[in-house]
Amino acid sequence: MSNELIMKADNIIKTFTSGEMTVNALKGVDVELRRGEMLSIMGSSGSGKSTMLNILGALENPDEGKIYLNGIEIQDYSIEPVATQMRNEHIGFVFQDYGLLNDLSVKENIALVLQLKGVKERLIKDKVKEVLQSVGLLEKINSGINELSGGQRQRVAIARAIIADPEIILADEPTGNLDYNTSVEIMELFVKLKKNNNQSMIVVTHDPMVAAYADRVMFLHDGSKVAEHINSDNEDNYSSIIDIFRNINTMN
Ligand code: ADP
Ligand code: MG
Repeated sequence: MSNELIMKADNIIKTFTSGEMTVNALKGVDVELRRGEMLSIMGSSGSGKSTMLNILGALENPDEGKIYLNGIEIQDYSIEPVATQMRNEHIGFVFQDYGLLNDLSVKENIALVLQLKGVKERLIKDKVKEVLQSVGLLEKINSGINELSGGQRQRVAIARAIIADPEIILADEPTGNLDYNTSVEIMELFVKLKKNNNQSMIVVTHDPMVAAYADRVMFLHDGSKVAEHINSDNEDNYSSIIDIFRNINTMN
């Protein structure tokens, strides 16, 4: 991990209004991500994690706040046409439910990203093999999505997320549908991508086991950042994270 800030969000505010109901989903949250860093955003259900990730991924527009990439403030980050450009050129997404097209094969799901960018078929073929190799799923290149286990589907989704070499991977509860052992495999894969490619990533989770794989954990509660923990090799990070999480949830 370097000290170089790849992404920074300042004072993000987001309020949802439906009828008489107002939800202050984010009440002024700052996020910083360094190159090669795995940041985990942790918090209980409804704390604002997905809203924050969607704003960082230009999928949702904040009411207030600034977003910087590589030190430069991006105006209209989540507004078209900038939003699409940000998503295509800087970000790879991984979702809890994989977000794969079940009618397409593994190969086709991954290739689609580069086809939409107009990359030459010859290059796409090589690149699909390369990313499937790096997620350990080359033998399933011609399989249908329905033939895969949940863990294998998430590997395909990760291969798709990295094929365009995004600077940042944003993952929302990537292990939320997976059992313990498969979750461990997926987190180990993220760690490998971080080590081998210096990949920067944000992993949203409510699972302390998942957060323990990150370099740093920020805790959201009721739309605010309430704590941070820097994981260390000389510490039982899992226990520390559980302690912080438990304290936060008994606060109010
Ligand atoms: P988390 O991912 O931590 O579970 P979310 O970011 O999804 O939390 O939601 C934060 C709060 O904002 C919740 O109270 C949720 O109900 C509300 N919320 C999220 N999206 C919308 C929306 N599109 N319309 C209205 N309320 C929303
Ligand atoms: Mg969520």
